[in-house]
Amino acid sequence: MVRCNELALFTEEPGRITRPYGTPSLAAAREKVALWMQEAGMEVRIDAVGNLRGRAHGSAPTMPALLLGSHLDSVRDAGRYDGPLGILVAIEVVDSVRARHWTLPFPVEVIAFADEEGLRFQTSYLGSCALAGSFAPAFLDLIDADGVTLHEAVGTFGGDPGALPAAALRPREARAYVEVHIEQGPYLESVDAPVGVVTAIAGQSRILTAFSGEAGHAGTVAMHLRRDPLSAAAEIVLAAEDLARQTSGLLATVGTMDVTPGASNVIPGQVRFSLDVRHPEDAVRTSAVAAMERRAHEVAVTRSLGVEWKIARDHPAVPCNGSLTTQLAEAVAAAGLPVEWLPSGAGHDAVVMSEVVPVAMLFVRCAGGISHHPAESVLTSDVAAAIDVLDRFVTMLADEKRE
Ligand SMILES: [Zn+2]
Repeated sequence: MVRCNELALFTEEPGRITRPYGTPSLAAAREKVALWMQEAGMEVRIDAVGNLRGRAHGSAPTMPALLLGSHLDSVRDAGRYDGPLGILVAIEVVDSVRARHWTLPFPVEVIAFADEEGLRFQTSYLGSCALAGSFAPAFLDLIDADGVTLHEAVGTFGGDPGALPAAALRPREARAYVEVHIEQGPYLESVDAPVGVVTAIAGQSRILTAFSGEAGHAGTVAMHLRRDPLSAAAEIVLAAEDLARQTSGLLATVGTMDVTPGASNVIPGQVRFSLDVRHPEDAVRTSAVAAMERRAHEVAVTRSLGVEWKIARDHPAVPCNGSLTTQLAEAVAAAGLPVEWLPSGAGHDAVVMSEVVPVAMLFVRCAGGISHHPAESVLTSDVAAAIDVLDRFVTMLADEKRE
């Protein structure tokens, strides 16, 4: 907890935590974490994109490594646990193994990913993409708000744009990636559990949609003659909420709405809005999206409106690995804690890492489910529980190796 507080001091904006990719504050935070990794007996290095990788070699250094970790970058005005907690919990576990004068039968690597939130270049997961070998060369041409290219930023951050392809994990270099992260939702609090085992990371569809009708005078156009796109949008907002409430696990959110021309005495002429749909099962999500599209067309026909429906983003769900999650659950039970299962509604580095290794995640209860906000908060005892569970999990994998 002290280390989380220390890392919170590394920021680009005094008074609040803002630590984007490639910045001096992230480099300084990375240096601090590297020191803690070394104190825990790890050998550290910085890879081509600027991820910090600390390695405890174990008694069989050539065996596939167990990868642990999370991200060190942040959103603007962030909390202090989203990301750093997963790195620090992993370091604690490695340190506790070392303190017991025990050598694991396989290498463990703790990774502090350099970019998960995508604050600076609007592209998330740059850090894990490098490891998964999915870092597209075109990413290097991305430009930040100050006109700096990602190519330049990688260089000044101690990385090497030319070596990016070589930063990818080689076959059999890693056996699994396991990430501890705050829940960012209220479920664990509602069931009074310190930690939870993640079943899957929800798939997500982001739809940009619009209704167009006819603008007119609010005082002269009779109600039955109106073609009001905002009333149609209101129907869709409520229909999406209704569908999500009636479908277990489905989340539907209208988060933006632009009303044109946007005056209190003018009937709107056009309304553009977003619809975000998430579910841990792809079939449920895609059928919900299809149902909402049908509904939008019905509403448009009934109200004589034009309709646009564009899927801007379509990410499939990522199931966590069955045997790893079972072992995580066993570790939770062995720690004397209730075993709670939950999907993740938010994306994580594990999404990208799942392209190359089996993944699992352990969530830690956070106050009010609040995240991406300075009020983010976790209980010290819950963090202790997460360390205990991850320690037991690593020990379990080690025992399995010995059998
Ligand atoms: Zn995060």
